[in-house]
Amino acid sequence: MLIHIVINSTFINVQLYNLYRFMDKLFENYCLKKHNTFGIDVNTKYYYEFSSTEEIVFFLRENPVSNIKKLILGAGSNIVFTKDFDGIVIRPRDRGVQIVEETKETILLKVGAGEVWDNFVNYCCKRNYGGAENLSLIPGMVGATPVQNIGAYGVEAKDIIEEVEAVNIDTQEIEKFNNEDCKFEYRNSIFKKELKGKYIVTYVTYKLSKTPILNINYGKVKDELKNCINIDVNSVREAIINIRNRKLPDPEKIGNAGSFFKNPIIDNNRTQELKIDFSDIVSYKVSETKDKIAAGWLIEQCGLKGKNFGKVGTYKDQALVIVNYGDATGNDIFNLAKDIQQTVYDKFGIIIDMEVNIV
Ligand SMILES: Cc1cc2nc3c(=O)[nH]c(=O)nc-3n(C[C@H](O)[C@H](O)[C@H](O)COP(=O)(O)OP(=O)(O)OC[C@H]3O[C@@H](n4cnc5c(N)ncnc54)[C@H](O)[C@@H]3O)c2cc1C
Repeated sequence: MLIHIVINSTFINVQLYNLYRFMDKLFENYCLKKHNTFGIDVNTKYYYEFSSTEEIVFFLRENPVSNIKKLILGAGSNIVFTKDFDGIVIRPRDRGVQIVEETKETILLKVGAGEVWDNFVNYCCKRNYGGAENLSLIPGMVGATPVQNIGAYGVEAKDIIEEVEAVNIDTQEIEKFNNEDCKFEYRNSIFKKELKGKYIVTYVTYKLSKTPILNINYGKVKDELKNCINIDVNSVREAIINIRNRKLPDPEKIGNAGSFFKNPIIDNNRTQELKIDFSDIVSYKVSETKDKIAAGWLIEQCGLKGKNFGKVGTYKDQALVIVNYGDATGNDIFNLAKDIQQTVYDKFGIIIDMEVNIV
């Protein structure tokens, strides 16, 4: 795809020269339909993929497309594009796993941001390294795992992340963040808050255990393993894959971004009040004063599970998941999400925040 710019000064001539140097990897008016799991048909003004830290640092320093918005994209499995993106989408393609340090008990593995997350989980399980198995089959790339602090079945990325390496977009410096620096919270981190849009994660180092302690007490994992004699990380991975395949729609077949909403955290006094009217409310204690409420349950109680609203709807087996039945736009999805939020608020007085990134 050829890139056109208007040349009216020597300065722009330099920019044009730089543009030509990146032309094999820089695309203009690029379609993102296959780069988001909702399958939303939008374009980005520019699109660039890089395969190494040196390459992205060089690209940012040369600045061939200066002063435009930048969006870092992984597999697009937690994004809704509500319109064309008037900037540059940058995508890491750097893959591979390196051993950084190994003791009798633990191993540190440094993984490229462009590695498919579940391939890495599989790599760990095959070698009996424990810690990532409960996060099996979560779509997306390694680079997004610290941003999102992905979580499932009682485990979060924060439990195994040792260090994050990222490029500062403004200074082009490579910086390192330890676990504490990342300020992890439930589906949140510093990269989604005060540093949002300021860093490109290039590598993540995870600490895995060579003597795994399995966590099978969450959800239906134990039930799924009841006929398993020697339970190890591989059987836990398999159990979780089975459960997820039954419960969640495959984005290859039906567009979705997994859970659209976060489970709200409320004061436990409020939970007690709600129990008067809703005795079967699904809640989990998270601290002495706070409870987490199952957002899926709240949505289901509003009669919104498996509901079809034309091009969009909620999934038949999991009310938390919004699905695209075909050619929905990002706004169709976003508007349904807002309606669900309002309906839940009207019934329970609880705000359910969106987990998915709206662009
Ligand atoms: C069927 C399905 C099931 C899911 N189940 C779960 C689940 O169980 N638990 C869970 O936590 N999530 C789940 N998700 C959500 C999603 O898989 C995760 O949020 C995942 O981490 C997103 O990865 P991604 O590469 O697709 O990121 P994207 O969606 O491309 O991006 C997500 C955010 O991270 C930023 N980002 C991505 N890569 C980088 C980078 N290298 N540097 C800086 N910023 C970056 C983006 O700018 C964006 O803000 C599910 C999604 C689907 C479709």
